[in-house]
Amino acid sequence: MNRWTPPLPDDPAATDTAAPLDITRLLTTITDNLVGMIYRCRIDATWTMEYVSEGCYKLTGYRPDELVFNNRVSYDQMTLPKDRERVNRAIHAALEANEAFDVEYRIRRADGQVRWVLERGVGLHNAHGQLAWIEGFIQDISERMAANEALHEAVRRYRSLFEHATEGIFQTTPEGRYLNANPALARIYGHASPDELIAHLHDIPRQLYVQPERRAEFVRLMQEQGAVRNFESQVYRCDGRVIWISENARAVKNADGSVQFFEGTVVDITERKQHDAVLEHQARHDSLTGLPNRSLLRDRIEQAIGKARRDGHLVAVVFVDLDHFKLINDSLGHHVGDRLLLEVADRLIACVRGHDSVGRQGGDEFVLVLTEMHDDNEIVSIVSRLLEVISQPWVDNGQEYGLSCSVGVSCFPQDGDDPDALLRCADAAMYKAKATGRGTYHFYTPELNQAVSERLELENSLRHALERGEFRVHYQPRIEVVSGRIIGAEALIRWDCPGKGLVQPDSFISIAEETGLIIQIGQWILQEACRQNSAWQRAGLAPIVVSVNLSPIQFRHAGLVSSVADALVQARLDPSYLELELTESFVMHDAERINVAMQSLKRLGVDIAVDDFGTGYSSLSYLKRFPVDRLKIDKSFVRDIDSDPDDAAIVRAIITLGHALGLKVVAEGVETPAHLEFLQQHDCDELQGYYFSRPVPAADMEALLHGQADGGCRCRAGLDAHAAAPCNCGGHPGE
Ligand code: C2E
Ligand code: MG
Ligand code: MG
Repeated sequence: MNRWTPPLPDDPAATDTAAPLDITRLLTTITDNLVGMIYRCRIDATWTMEYVSEGCYKLTGYRPDELVFNNRVSYDQMTLPKDRERVNRAIHAALEANEAFDVEYRIRRADGQVRWVLERGVGLHNAHGQLAWIEGFIQDISERMAANEALHEAVRRYRSLFEHATEGIFQTTPEGRYLNANPALARIYGHASPDELIAHLHDIPRQLYVQPERRAEFVRLMQEQGAVRNFESQVYRCDGRVIWISENARAVKNADGSVQFFEGTVVDITERKQHDAVLEHQARHDSLTGLPNRSLLRDRIEQAIGKARRDGHLVAVVFVDLDHFKLINDSLGHHVGDRLLLEVADRLIACVRGHDSVGRQGGDEFVLVLTEMHDDNEIVSIVSRLLEVISQPWVDNGQEYGLSCSVGVSCFPQDGDDPDALLRCADAAMYKAKATGRGTYHFYTPELNQAVSERLELENSLRHALERGEFRVHYQPRIEVVSGRIIGAEALIRWDCPGKGLVQPDSFISIAEETGLIIQIGQWILQEACRQNSAWQRAGLAPIVVSVNLSPIQFRHAGLVSSVADALVQARLDPSYLELELTESFVMHDAERINVAMQSLKRLGVDIAVDDFGTGYSSLSYLKRFPVDRLKIDKSFVRDIDSDPDDAAIVRAIITLGHALGLKVVAEGVETPAHLEFLQQHDCDELQGYYFSRPVPAADMEALLHGQADGGCRCRAGLDAHAAAPCNCGGHPGE
């Protein structure tokens, strides 16, 4: 390996070849190659240069000879006027103090460029001991100044961001003390200034976080992952108010990896949280009653099932459907309907215990989730109370309404083990309760599925029944007691449903009402009854009044009066031969509106009868106000008229009342001679019932009318309570 070895001192060759050390030359080399300018100048007004090094050209753009003795320019001229005075003052001060100076300022180069320079120098005395020159060095520091400026600008910008940010910015120790906080953070936490915040909050986990565990979680994430994103917590403001914040933060670590401090930002998300909570509430609650809606109810059922599985209890899902709600809603308007639903919601809530739920499925359907049930008896007792509570009369705007509901019950575990199954079963049970006679409850049984699908099937076929011409009208004669003659007939609808035979109205009228089909069906029967009655008259039979039942839904419909008028015109029937029957309970609702509609119908010239009289919640005053012609005593009072003194008393009272108001009284459901005798004795005006005839097809009704024209029938004979002679009309038609 070749290695250079220093020459030995006694090696003559070495001393011969080495050049003698020329200090002046060495200094000149250094001076000329220095980046910067060495100078000597006079201490005069223009700092006249006597010597400048070669570096002058690079620094100022002037050649040394141009600057020396101010040949072309003086150094003072080159100094930026703005800086001149400051530079002069600094240099003179240093000279006076006999010190070296050090000053930064700007010069304008020959090419016009402005550069920052650093000048370092020291005063030099002449032979008389007077300060006469300065010797020094000037170097270009523009790049350093630009870097400094950029640094300052960055610091200023970050400071401003920190001060004016809308987000809170913090640095904290892992133990929970503030090192730094900005004004926004102070504002978020309710402090007057960052200093106040830092002084006040010295134990972040306990003083700030509503749940100190949340801070522990924050610290854990910081230690493990070095950062948190959108970390949401509830914190106390200094006034004690609780707010929601979201933090984004990172851990700043020491070289050894240990955490030095946490830094990050805080935003107040209270408003968003509240908004979210409102949206969440809206999405899961019914807007009218504020009760849980379908989706929340499913969750509640799910939770109840989970708990029941652990505890071995039963869960009951109770489906509650108001009876005749559509009637109230349609006839009285939605505002009354809404008030009724609110009332029902309150009543249902009153029936359950704290851990049960009441929700609204939609429309007039409510669902109760009964938890911690031990046996069916317990469920029955709650459901019975519920029926009782709902059936209390409801007073709204001084009007009293009777209410009832139908209830279906399903139970976990026997009827299903998920919310959908339990709701389906409770719904099916509710339909069964409705079909059984409203105002009752029914527990789910597997056979009910069959019933539900039958109902759906029925509803489907009903939609096509009209266009397929499946409806029929049967007529039931009405007999005048004094003359013993058929003076009227009630038109009663039947549905000739393929595969089912003749379906009675009780099985489909309520479905037609719920689906709205009743409007077209009602119009059809009006037209058909008028046409038939007119045809009988034109066939020369003694004129009778045909009665048509009107559904409350039709009554609510704006087109009713014109559709009655049309039916009469089309059939060319005198209005006095048409009677419209309205049920009593319906007449009671919305008395004013009904009165107006009744008056319009009356003006057409038709008669109006109150059907099923005695079954509704009677306010007798309406009888006086409404243009009613007839009262039809409900058949339920007539049935036991001869054995039940109460029924007898009610019927007597209705007859007296009707007569006192100048109305005709009709008894429905006259089945036996005993019924007949009683009604005759008590001056009932007209009678209708199986004793005389069942409702029969038009042709049979026509035969009855003919028989009467031909001089008597059993119906006539039947009126004589003592006559034992059978009817000779050739048969008593029946269905
Ligand atoms: P409603 O208007 O009270 O009709 C009288 C009901 O009593 C008829 O039942 C009739 O068949 C039955 N009836 C008559 N005499 C006797 C008797 O002596 N004993 C017994 N137990 N019952 C008797 P129907 O035809 O089944 O009609 C039931 C209800 O359906 C009617 O009660 C009426 O409210 C409704 N309805 C029938 N047809 C129509 C219609 O075209 N439109 C509307 N909206 N409802 C109708
Ligand atoms: Mg009727
Ligand atoms: Mg009736």
